[in-house]
Amino acid sequence: MSSLPSISTLSRSSTISELEHGEYDLIVIGGGITGAGIVRDAAMRGLSVALFEAHDFASGTSSRSSKLIHGGLRYLERGEFNLVRKTALERKEIHRLAPHLCEPRLMVLPLRTRAKLLGLRLGITAYERLGAVASKDSQRTWSGSSLAEHEPLLNARRFPFALAYREYLTDDARLVLANIRSAAGFGAAVLNHAPVVGFIREGESAVGVEVRDSLTGREFRVRGRVIVNAAGPWVEAIQRLEDPGSRPLLHLSKGVHIAVPASKLPIRNLVVLKTRDRRRIFAIRRSDIVYIGTTDSTYEPGARVWPEVEREDVEYLLEPLPLHFNIDPLTPDDVIGAWAGLRPLIANPEKKNPSELSRRDELLTGPLGLISVAGGKLTGYRGMARRVLHNVAERLGRSFRKIGEEPPLPGGDFPSGSELADLGLALCRESNLDEETGERLARLYGTEARSVLALGSRPIFPGARAIIGEVRWAVEREGAATLEDLFYRRARLPMFWADATRAVEPLANLLSERLGWNHRVRAAEIERVERQLGADLGFLQVAR
Ligand code: FAD
Repeated sequence: MSSLPSISTLSRSSTISELEHGEYDLIVIGGGITGAGIVRDAAMRGLSVALFEAHDFASGTSSRSSKLIHGGLRYLERGEFNLVRKTALERKEIHRLAPHLCEPRLMVLPLRTRAKLLGLRLGITAYERLGAVASKDSQRTWSGSSLAEHEPLLNARRFPFALAYREYLTDDARLVLANIRSAAGFGAAVLNHAPVVGFIREGESAVGVEVRDSLTGREFRVRGRVIVNAAGPWVEAIQRLEDPGSRPLLHLSKGVHIAVPASKLPIRNLVVLKTRDRRRIFAIRRSDIVYIGTTDSTYEPGARVWPEVEREDVEYLLEPLPLHFNIDPLTPDDVIGAWAGLRPLIANPEKKNPSELSRRDELLTGPLGLISVAGGKLTGYRGMARRVLHNVAERLGRSFRKIGEEPPLPGGDFPSGSELADLGLALCRESNLDEETGERLARLYGTEARSVLALGSRPIFPGARAIIGEVRWAVEREGAATLEDLFYRRARLPMFWADATRAVEPLANLLSERLGWNHRVRAAEIERVERQLGADLGFLQVAR
């Protein structure tokens, strides 16, 4: 088991001491998908590289997305062919690297007329060509009995046709973790709960960073030849550390998702819905839960780790449901989970509506030589990483090792031809698990699920979806240092389980044992997660 890539919270102090004494080719600020892609690419090419994350890996936008690895039909309609082609092709590649984190699913477009169907078929054909989709996986048309069979909840009187085409569903936070762990396996030094608070300056250059260990309060310095700012919505805050007069770059847009129990909205696929202002949103079935999103509205208060979910966001997302499906209207009281994220979009003075802003990424070099990367999408993270590394190579004045065919991400080495569902069933057979638990473990950990099970296959309490081995795995392999890290971004319980709150205390007890917490720390950790769970549904307290 020791050969598996590891980020161990138990060896945090030795990691810090190694960082203080090292000098790195590259330092990356920010452990979202952008930083994670860069650190993996750099480490695979043989660079010495360190990454610092202010809170937890993926605690920013990269755990709040719609979780689609997609080219984005919307961008095709706007003529952004290049963006669509790159991201559409990327779907296949991420699926190859991590079948558990890039699951093929059908995206269903409900349609009212045959004319609309014919028009969209052309668009989807172009999308499939750009993404080199195999003909066996190409779009299909449903109507009448085929529609009733594949998506029976759809209101077929209003939408007698549907186009179903292939998209991919990921788990954004775990995709980040997989990349960061992989980088650690290639020798990168990575640290969460470690904000960069300043730069080491020599003349006109930044030659390193000042970092605070949030868990102990201790500050330390780390030297690096090139520094990349991949801080997502916080990119400008880091630019201001470099140059207090730096010009604003971003237009932050808030995107909200809500989750309802699948029993209240028993759809089978990913379904595209139209809102009252003619935007497209998604309803996405995953295990026991369907999540619906997203909104897209300018966010003025500035970058926050937990942007608030407003009651009007929730009502806006619930409103289209009874128009599309044969259900009674749902109310905010039916919502069991919600999250909001901030899109770090590149500002354009001519466009004030965030939906009109391009999702392209941009690289900028600041006065001390800091390379800042902003914008982009989860799906395009590998391309962004390659462009950043190209820049880094120029700065270091050397060329890097070619990677060839990238090795799979941790947990992604599925036997040829086998898929996620096969692994889930195999786990059920081998470890006597119920179907939901087997499927959940396969999705979270891929082929590493067997190593997780070897650490303890019992549920954390009778009937729970999470198993005991996940706690040790999260601490010793995935750098979980707080209950929030474990609950929200490792075990992902709010995403899989309508009853996730019941797991808070049992997980805290197990984590206390692993991390040696006293009673006071344990109670504070529980309080923090319970407070956050309450805040996620804070819109319920707001009277109409
Ligand atoms: P982040 O994930 O925010 O990472 C930046 C990190 O930097 C944070 O973790 C932060 O804590 C850290 N940081 C900040 N300051 C410091 C500091 N001083 N020191 C160290 N670290 C610091 N894309 C898709 O491809 N598919 C989708 O379905 C999709 N859906 C989306 C839905 C919504 C609602 C939103 C908001 C976005 C969506 N996106 C999607 C876009 C995608 O999620 C983002 O482009 C991507 O996650 C941005 O990642 P990032 O690493 O740049 O930023």
